[in-house]
Amino acid sequence: MTVLRTIKGDIPTEQLGFILPHEHLFVDLRGPLAPGYGEGTPQAVAGLVKPYLDEIEARGVTAFVDCAPWGVGRNITALRHVANLTPIHIVVPTGVYKEGFIPTNWLDISPEALAEHWITELTEGMEGTDSKAGFIKVALVDDGPKTIEARNLRAAAIASKATGAIIGSHTIGGRAAREEMSILEAAGQNLNRFIWIHAQTESDTSIHIEAAKRGAWVEFDAIGANNDLDQKMLDFTLNLLEAGYGNQVLLSHDAGWYEVGSPSGVPQPQGYRGYTALIDSFIPALRSRGATDADIHMLTVTNPARAYGI
Ligand SMILES: [Zn+2]
Repeated sequence: MTVLRTIKGDIPTEQLGFILPHEHLFVDLRGPLAPGYGEGTPQAVAGLVKPYLDEIEARGVTAFVDCAPWGVGRNITALRHVANLTPIHIVVPTGVYKEGFIPTNWLDISPEALAEHWITELTEGMEGTDSKAGFIKVALVDDGPKTIEARNLRAAAIASKATGAIIGSHTIGGRAAREEMSILEAAGQNLNRFIWIHAQTESDTSIHIEAAKRGAWVEFDAIGANNDLDQKMLDFTLNLLEAGYGNQVLLSHDAGWYEVGSPSGVPQPQGYRGYTALIDSFIPALRSRGATDADIHMLTVTNPARAYGI
């Protein structure tokens, strides 16, 4: 049986419907050395984020993947509190963010030692709780992968092969994606357990196809951020559908969130971006350009369940 490994336990994916595969509830982008790093009271976090979860619950969203790993303020206490207030199933990653955000005690350890920590979070629980991580998130700087990031990718491959959890990597542009896919393949990773996060940052659509041919999931995850980019992501999505790779595409907003260090946790200056644009505008636009009900179901239900299912 395939399950989504949520913060409140395993849920059979067959019980789920619409899944948002890349969003945020809580982020600290100041890095792990900032004063008050990762702090936010559960009540304050819930007070800010709950109305935005209510909006997508009303639209039929059943599960929500939070994508903040170690290094950008993952706060299990706050996330567990939020998860108890909504019927939406919440998935949280293990893993670590890019160079400059890596906890100091993880800088000099081997891929195997780092993987051991992540495997514990995926199979036993995170930070002393019984809440298990549901996938492995890593990240590259824009001109990455750096040496330490390549180490993280090798650790991610070890943890993925040991647990079945998928790897998602914040990756800007096709050059970096190609390099990291080669690192993962050399580490024995089947790329059907890898998500190229932020693939919309590459405008050469032949590289989206190339990644899909290699087996990777291609994620367009800035929906609702701005109209020009939405138009591009529509083109990118339709291109992959037409090429026969629609079953490797993920769509999300990368939106939110309670931001540590900002007044009342509201991100500055842009404010809190909610999670409704995919349903309210992007899917209708896909339909108007010829996507079928079956395509939409694949993109929003089947694909994220297959990607994140363990
Ligand atoms: Zn993100």
